[in-house]
Amino acid sequence: MDCLFCKIIEGQIPSKKVFESDTVLAFYDIQPAAPEHVLIIPKKHIPTMNDVTDEDDAVVAEIFAAARQIAAKLGIAESGYRLINNCNKDSGQIVFHLHFHLLGGKKLGPLLN
Ligand code: IMP
Repeated sequence: MDCLFCKIIEGQIPSKKVFESDTVLAFYDIQPAAPEHVLIIPKKHIPTMNDVTDEDDAVVAEIFAAARQIAAKLGIAESGYRLINNCNKDSGQIVFHLHFHLLGGKKLGPLLN
């Protein structure tokens, strides 16, 4: 499968990891939009949020647990952070492997534009 994030999971493309479990991987975004910008992904290939099924409940919960742990590890849990998923083209999704952007480390601007 020609998926960039699957290649990162497989180690075929290098990444700066911040968290890894059996089912979830998190690594720094190569084009950070904030001082801290981490991508949290399931190891299972799920193209978009629309493709998440009830079978994925556990991994979705693990992604949110990972986000809390990563925010604490990066020291931004108390100051605050944002967790974003882009779904399909109108959102700007460019990598079609489910991922959540964890952004923080500064006061973030308005979300909507
Ligand atoms: P999307 O717009 O929500 O699909 O975001 C995809 C993100 O993946 C963008 O913020 C990119 O900067 C990021 N990205 C693309 N290639 C890589 C990579 O090789 N390593 C880390 N992040 C990447």
